[in-house]
Amino acid sequence: MTYLAVPIAAENLEQAKEFVKTALAAGAGMLELRTDYLENLSVPMVGKLIADTKTAAGRKLPVIVTCRDKQQGGAKSHPLKLRIDVLAGALKAGAEYIDFEYDNFAAMENQEKIRVALSQSGKGRIILSAHNFQTRFENIARLYRRIQTAHPAAIPKLVYTANHINDCFDAFDLLHVTSGERIIFCMGQAGLISRVLAKKFDAFLTFASIDEKTATAPGQLTIEQLRRRYRYDSINLETQLYGIIGSPVGHSLGPIVHNACFGDAGADKLYLPLLVDGGGPEFEKFMGNILARKWLGFRGFSVTIPHKENALEFIRQKQGFVEPLAKKIGAVNTIVITADGLLKAYNTDYAGALDAIASTLGSKAGLKDMPAAVIGAGGVARAIVAVVCDAGAKVTIYNRTAKKGEKLAAEFSCCAAPLDELRNLEAKLLINCTSVGMYPDMNASPIPKQYIKKGMVVFDTVYNPPETLLLKQAKDAGAKTISGMEMFINQACGQFKLFTGQNGTPKVMGEAMKSAL
Ligand code: NAP
Repeated sequence: MTYLAVPIAAENLEQAKEFVKTALAAGAGMLELRTDYLENLSVPMVGKLIADTKTAAGRKLPVIVTCRDKQQGGAKSHPLKLRIDVLAGALKAGAEYIDFEYDNFAAMENQEKIRVALSQSGKGRIILSAHNFQTRFENIARLYRRIQTAHPAAIPKLVYTANHINDCFDAFDLLHVTSGERIIFCMGQAGLISRVLAKKFDAFLTFASIDEKTATAPGQLTIEQLRRRYRYDSINLETQLYGIIGSPVGHSLGPIVHNACFGDAGADKLYLPLLVDGGGPEFEKFMGNILARKWLGFRGFSVTIPHKENALEFIRQKQGFVEPLAKKIGAVNTIVITADGLLKAYNTDYAGALDAIASTLGSKAGLKDMPAAVIGAGGVARAIVAVVCDAGAKVTIYNRTAKKGEKLAAEFSCCAAPLDELRNLEAKLLINCTSVGMYPDMNASPIPKQYIKKGMVVFDTVYNPPETLLLKQAKDAGAKTISGMEMFINQACGQFKLFTGQNGTPKVMGEAMKSAL
């Protein structure tokens, strides 16, 4: 059982009541009363806070009382003596748990006071915590043992900042080799997955905030995100893991659509955002970390900017299977790890784009000899150029970095031109494969509106927002439009099939996407 613990970081008792009410309504399974946030902190005030909280809960709801040292992330500089008195008072007032810093517990006089308070309370327990806000612990396993030795009945809590997703594996390894009540996770955006996976490892708790404003640590998710987006309630030891590897990935709708479909299909699967900063070496290290730990349960990945080509290279190196289409495109957007550990790589962008274009034109045959302009020469452009060239369109690639456009054009035996040549545009099909116009720069368009003509088909691969400025301008000019959302749902359905063997449900994906956007 992993508690979903919500920190209550209120400055006064009135505010605390509000926060507690909201946390309970959102499904908190445990509350952490962060008394270090309270103004004019006193022992009786904490007693009242605990009593109010228990009354508001109206059910058995465990409470942790924390009065964090400023040096370990506390909100205010309360004197150590007051902080210990608060914890002792909290035990007397019925708190099930107190959280005290292991470093301070190590000092004999502090330890004595805490031990006396614990023995007088009878049922109260202690969480002994260690935090590193900068980086990984030098030796997390040794620190864990030291905490256990200092007070075997304590629940060890080890929390550190992951500066890269690869830093999370120290936490996972420790969770894997230990059992019972322990709290181990990483802070920061790169540590996000460790907060979700705490449940898969049967950790004692994971924290989630009421909303983004009340988060008490970097990278903390909200209860809503954890429960809705990351299927928290259904995670268990056997849950198979998937995710989108990219940088950035925070904006990706992959977790929203795939988790919605996993939920709809009743699959014991979870899809995570996997922020892999850096290039090929970091990608390789990440995949190496995953493959060395079969017990993590990762079974597949979507791959996005900037790793689609790194993924192809990696699977080739590992002598995995690469579908011919992905080889031809030169980019992989899907990796599957089979039950016996084999790696398989695919590209579902191709079929996703083709279906989106064909459904607007009536058929793929409509592309034959059609003059087509592709703006951009990155990962998504590769798949799009392959689609339109294969279908016999007369393709010109326009790219900001002209050399890159020329290189892609040479690979697919089509033409390339610099961006300013768009003023002579004669194409019937125009496809934006750049990120121009994507959230948050939604007032940008990759092409001046006067170049868009009536009767053109304009396809924007950008899907956030679903209707970009380019698509609005195209509609105004009397052109037909294709939204990136259509391609996104098509390619995600292709991935879902590879991940589960079942067809994805475009309706479920579309609804999840629309409500997220
Ligand atoms: P990428 O590999 O990083 O390529 C980005 C492309 O955009 C490059 O050609 C780049 O030109 C160009 N570019 C970036 N900023 C520009 C600017 N300010 N002006 C002109 N050109 C600019 O990215 P990608 O993976 O191809 O993704 C591109 C877009 O496709 C993303 O925004 C994403 O929303 C969309 N996408 C959609 C789907 C879908 O299913 N609908 C799937 C994947 C991606 P340089 O070569 O000069 O840098």
